[in-house]
Amino acid sequence: MKYDYLIVGAGFAGSVMAERLVSQQNKKVLVVEKRNHIGGNAYDEYNDDGILVHKYGPHIFHTNSKQVFDYLSHFTEWIPYEHKVLAKIGEELYPIPINRLTINKLYNLNLTTDEEVKNYFDSVKEKRYPILNSEDIIVNQVGYDLFEKFFKHYTKKQWDLEPKELSPSVCGRIPVRTNVDCRYFTDKYQFMPKHGYTKMFELILSHKNIEVVLNTDYKEIVNDIKFDKMIYTGPIDYFFDYQFGKLPYRSIRFEWETLEVENFQEAAVVNYTEDKYEYTRVTEYKKLTNQKNQKTTISREYSSSSDDPFYPVLTNQNKVMYDKYKNESEKFKSISFLGRLAEYKYYNMDQVVAKIIKLFN
Ligand code: FAD
Ligand code: UDP
Repeated sequence: MKYDYLIVGAGFAGSVMAERLVSQQNKKVLVVEKRNHIGGNAYDEYNDDGILVHKYGPHIFHTNSKQVFDYLSHFTEWIPYEHKVLAKIGEELYPIPINRLTINKLYNLNLTTDEEVKNYFDSVKEKRYPILNSEDIIVNQVGYDLFEKFFKHYTKKQWDLEPKELSPSVCGRIPVRTNVDCRYFTDKYQFMPKHGYTKMFELILSHKNIEVVLNTDYKEIVNDIKFDKMIYTGPIDYFFDYQFGKLPYRSIRFEWETLEVENFQEAAVVNYTEDKYEYTRVTEYKKLTNQKNQKTTISREYSSSSDDPFYPVLTNQNKVMYDKYKNESEKFKSISFLGRLAEYKYYNMDQVVAKIIKLFN
């Protein structure tokens, strides 16, 4: 059997590419996935208590792209969901992204307009220019105290690096608001797949020209099968046998607990921004999907440097190493390196889908 494409990885990048190739060009595709399931880090499953959980941490779909939303809508129905996160400081919970309500509660103020909040930020922010790192980008907007309370320790726990050592784009993912909008995202389309991500991936991959092989590292089979082209969505350094060194990827260890109570916390996600907690955040999954159950399942996230790669670590030094791999990868005309791990980019799900659709078109 000869395939037109070998696709490594059954996450968003690999699965959407497979679907495009078979449905639009009638190609024959083999998808090889080293885990025992499809879906990549967006994989979800029902646990023993019948609660749908995200095995690799909370995944909330949000996009401004109608094209991405319309595309995925072929494979799932949706339920509306607007994500809200609270940060725990002391015994209190505060809205994050920082907004007017956060400031009023934290400092016992009574600011009532955007203008007043803007003036407040102006009075506490420190001018940083140029913005070189994740400390600069936050302190430049809201000053050191808010930075320290909400970002400094959380970031150190998450990345094992000081915000100063990380690209501005890391903490810069989180906006600062003068209004009372407590939503984590402001995108036009904010939904959860009605029957879960895994069901959506099953449909994306359900085509007679797509064969999926699980539990297999591509290196075990790559020399035994015939194919014309490869789409590689695994870690780029692994592809090149770490020739220029090991690119750091951050991982997460999840501590799972199912509790005999209907509700555990006030929001689907609570961020623990103080350093006295080892974990970064706690997710209560029922609240993401509006499930009804007498019990509730939570996960605590402990960031780690273990071998299962989740996040690229965006520092100047790592970029230099990544660029060496990228240059090397460009010599392989019949292999495309795509997705969060292969492009070493902090992509959200919709950005990966957008990239694949664009590239395909
Ligand atoms: P992945 O999903 O990582 O898929 C790559 C696949 O390749 C994996 O299944 C892997 O097992 C496989 N693979 C790797 N190496 C090999 C090999 N050698 N052989 C065979 N297979 C291999 N995005 C959002 O939009 N909203 C969110 O709320 C959100 N929350 C997140 C929370 C966490 C904790 C994490 C880690 C990510 C989150 N993301 C979120 C990002 C989202 O997970 C990614 O954008 C998306 O999964 C990227 O898809 P991908 O296909 O590039 O990579
Ligand atoms: N962050 C923080 N405190 C928070 C939320 C986020 O310091 O309460 C920082 C942290 O460095 C984190 C980054 O902002 O890694 C991006 O946050 P996001 O919630 O987007 O992280 P993800 O969901 O991708 O893990």
